[in-house]
Amino acid sequence: MCGIFGVFNNKEAAELTYLGLYALQHRGQESCGIVSTDKKKFYQSIGMGLISDVFQKDVLSGLKGNSAIGHSRYSTAGSTVLDNAQPISIKFIGNDLAIAHNGNLCNYRSLRLKLEKEGSIFQTTSDSEVILHLIARSRRNTLEERIKDALEKVKGAYSILFLTQDKMIAVRDPLGIRPLCLGKVKNSFIVSSETCAFDLLGARYIRDIEPGEMAVFSGKGLVSRKIFRSPRKACCIFEYVYFSRPDSKVFGRPVYTIRREFGRQLARELAGRMNLKNADIVIPVPDSANVAAVGFSEQSGIPYEIGFIRNHYIGRTFIEPEQRIRDFGVKIKYNPVNEALKGKEIILVDDSIVRGTTSRKLIRMLRKAGVKKIHHVISSPPIRYSCFYGIDTPVRDKLIASHKNIEQIRKFIEVDSLYYLSLDGMVRSTGMKKNDFCLACFNGDYVIRPEK
Ligand code: SF4
Repeated sequence: MCGIFGVFNNKEAAELTYLGLYALQHRGQESCGIVSTDKKKFYQSIGMGLISDVFQKDVLSGLKGNSAIGHSRYSTAGSTVLDNAQPISIKFIGNDLAIAHNGNLCNYRSLRLKLEKEGSIFQTTSDSEVILHLIARSRRNTLEERIKDALEKVKGAYSILFLTQDKMIAVRDPLGIRPLCLGKVKNSFIVSSETCAFDLLGARYIRDIEPGEMAVFSGKGLVSRKIFRSPRKACCIFEYVYFSRPDSKVFGRPVYTIRREFGRQLARELAGRMNLKNADIVIPVPDSANVAAVGFSEQSGIPYEIGFIRNHYIGRTFIEPEQRIRDFGVKIKYNPVNEALKGKEIILVDDSIVRGTTSRKLIRMLRKAGVKKIHHVISSPPIRYSCFYGIDTPVRDKLIASHKNIEQIRKFIEVDSLYYLSLDGMVRSTGMKKNDFCLACFNGDYVIRPEK
């Protein structure tokens, strides 16, 4: 889960990239960076933490040039250290090349081992660096051919931006697992993980970079071609469930509408199975379940209330949860609104349950606030399998639904009833076909087998 953003041919390239990353901050908060170019050399600034921490005014003014790419990182492959922050830039045969990558390579380990045995020296533990080594070692003539040659060898999820002194190149893997959107602000092309970044800049969404497409931005304008055949798509459905901002368009469709439909569909599926009439209010776990809860409330006719206030300003704290205050991590993030909850029978909407431990803490907070009965409804099916395509899910046995059935999960998180959205209901809510999606974390059907 990372955000990537790029601008080609704009005198405010670094500033626009900075704002773009701001809009994509929800996709990764561990590190961020921008590389820009004035056609002669690269300028770069990379650091640990939030965009607002890393890019002070004086830093931005040093990022010269008309083109830039940026990255906000949430580590999925490689550890959380500055070395692994992106964009990663290298020099080879006299050229500068930078990469910003969202996704995970499934054959990263074997590729890296092979490259190391053949003499490659790695600077990072990030899987994205493998792509740069493969490009540098390719025998093809042009950069575009070298990139294609390199990407033919990797398996996995990638939405990538490359930058050279005179080009920006966007590529999406043949299955289109992670999103990548193309837009325009005045005469400049911009590329972003999500369209919410376009809105902030007053840019126009044109279309998605298609699965298997390479889009080259240069002095000749945009030249695009399919470099890989796409037998099918495998768009990550979790972008609609949780990751993407609801004000974005992702995979060509509005997240808000789909996420609200998840809530509506869930209410439809439960109409015959639980006594909705007795519930007083519907409340979301903010912010990720807000929109699904709106849909659930609309469909069921049960009033929507704000039951938790989320603190958005926590950043990094220096008190560990096990010190001082029990459940500190959850308490600092969420606070129940006692006045809205006391004596009520509630429907609590969340987008997913991963380990179950956070859910249980939230439920206990609700009980303490005087809630009478809690029906917990989840706007996606149980997560039973790990993700190998760029989402930071824990190893399989840490996923509560991998080893407990729904009744056992209900007991563990201490709710009165627990319901999940069906897989078919979730897919139907998107208006897309089942085969357009990766659904592996729900059904174990991996489109690309991970390495053992
Ligand atoms: S396994 Fe789940 S989270 Fe990972 S890409 Fe597939 S749908 Fe998305």
